[in-house]
Amino acid sequence: MHIQVKDISKIYGAGENKVVALNRATITINEGDFISIMGPSGSGKSTLLHIISGLDVPTSGQVLYGDTDIHHGNDRELSAFRRRKIGFIFQQFNLLPVLSAQENIIMPLLLDKQRPDESYLHDLTGYLGIHARLTHLPHQLSGGQKQRVAIARALIAKPDIIFADEPTGNLDSKSGGEVMEMLCGLRAKMNKTLVIITHDPHIAEMAVCRFTIVDGILSEVTAK
Ligand code: ADP
Ligand code: MG
Repeated sequence: MHIQVKDISKIYGAGENKVVALNRATITINEGDFISIMGPSGSGKSTLLHIISGLDVPTSGQVLYGDTDIHHGNDRELSAFRRRKIGFIFQQFNLLPVLSAQENIIMPLLLDKQRPDESYLHDLTGYLGIHARLTHLPHQLSGGQKQRVAIARALIAKPDIIFADEPTGNLDSKSGGEVMEMLCGLRAKMNKTLVIITHDPHIAEMAVCRFTIVDGILSEVTAK
């Protein structure tokens, strides 16, 4: 699916407290793209990703998936669209603490009254190396395992596009490296679109298309 982000701005507060978190960001995401967005803390990275993925609304501008403006449908439609088409990976994992790893993984399907494709679930969790952890609760898992569970959850509904907001930001370099390797491997294997936010230049360089964001202004890094 072709995604066009047109002139998105996000302004918080007013008067003296006004913060321009995003300043007219424009980006086109084509099917199969692998895009990284790098920028310092507070530069608007999460705001941008939340707006592109429909988790937040822009102050002005448009996000089109094909011909559909995702911020102008009703909330139920947007939620269903997000569950089916978009996988989101958070820095803080965002697993539900009272559910097992497997229950967390299949939650997006249950919310959509769907049953998991057992062989896909088996292959996915095998690839991510978490078969032996599926009955565990999140607090019984290491950071790297939690993020691998979160990756499985992001992919369980076979979305077209994966957004990852600093997916290794809470991990040590070894488990962060493993998580990145798996994420890149799954992207290539399943031919998904991946948009990843990072402030690690090594991770940014893995992407085919690179952007930076500074003070809410997004720009493409031209090839060397
Ligand atoms: P990043 O992910 O790059 O660290 P964010 O997108 O989270 O940056 O934030 C961008 C700017 O917007 C920051 O200055 C932040 O303080 C501000 N901001 C984010 N969310 C809110 C909010 N809900 N209310 C007010 N300001 C916010
Ligand atoms: Mg952020």
